[in-house]
Amino acid sequence: MTQASDQPQSRLAAKYIATFVVVLALVAAATFFVPRITDHFLHEHGGAILTDVAKSWSLTILNPLYWIFLLVIALLELRWAARAGEGMLSVGAAQDFVWLLLAPIFNLTIIFFYLQVLNQIYEGPLHSASLDVEAVVGVALTAVLAFLLADFFMWLSHFIRHKVPQFWRFHQVHHSQTKMSVLTDNRVHFIESMISASISYIPARLLGLSDEASTFLAFATVFFTGFTHANLRTNLGPIRWLTVTPQSHRVHHSVEPQHWDHNFGAVLSIWDRMFRTQFKGANDYPAIGIEDPTFPLEQSPAPTSVLRTYFLQIVHPFKMVFKDFQKS
Ligand SMILES: [Zn+2]
Ligand SMILES: [Zn+2]
Repeated sequence: MTQASDQPQSRLAAKYIATFVVVLALVAAATFFVPRITDHFLHEHGGAILTDVAKSWSLTILNPLYWIFLLVIALLELRWAARAGEGMLSVGAAQDFVWLLLAPIFNLTIIFFYLQVLNQIYEGPLHSASLDVEAVVGVALTAVLAFLLADFFMWLSHFIRHKVPQFWRFHQVHHSQTKMSVLTDNRVHFIESMISASISYIPARLLGLSDEASTFLAFATVFFTGFTHANLRTNLGPIRWLTVTPQSHRVHHSVEPQHWDHNFGAVLSIWDRMFRTQFKGANDYPAIGIEDPTFPLEQSPAPTSVLRTYFLQIVHPFKMVFKDFQKS
């Protein structure tokens, strides 16, 4: 297969422009149709859950702030790139754009129904139990506690996704990226989202956080984890003692064995320090990727190619789990 880097610059530029036009057309269509579909579902199912699921798009491609954020990061990447050839203008970023755009396919179907099952468990056997912390300590402190709890559960679920071999097969899709960019955080397999939800959904409901506070936390997390995936040469100086950084998360994605199984944090780095999984070096900017030579890695930013590759990447972990199952 032809590597994108081997192609003439003009052909590559044409492919980028074609991808961008397709993206704009999809966004325009989505802006028109998604609110209508959402309204219909809300009317039919009365679903606060759907509102939760729809957040992923309303916070990103339907949000002008997200586009400004992408532009700012792209400019910063031009000036302070961690590694040449990565970032927003890479084939990997074009592929991750598709992951961002097509996420609603699974969010509005499989994950939507799965969250309903979790909600049934919460409302059924758990009788909608809530600590109602807000009534005791107020909204602001509850938001802080909920953020700490959610971030800890993200750390824990990430740790588990690395340690359980079948879970790793799905999490491996996120790690398959070889060109780090602010969009890489969108490359998450829907099975992985279901694993994360299983671990963190019920504890979050038990804390009883208001919708406004949870929306704000989701908003802050999307932007922050986007930032830590950017191709930026920074360890944020002393801030790194408190939070994950583009440098520390790059180490998490590293191809070098000495970096593996470190830096599992999503926003805060305190859990990795607490559980001794923080990598000590704060100045390593390694290459990233996975060992699996059979993984269908993106080769071209052309719309047909990234769409085809997206579906191959969705299917790949199922094939691997099936192979593992046959071997055992
Ligand atoms: Zn990971
Ligand atoms: Zn990552």
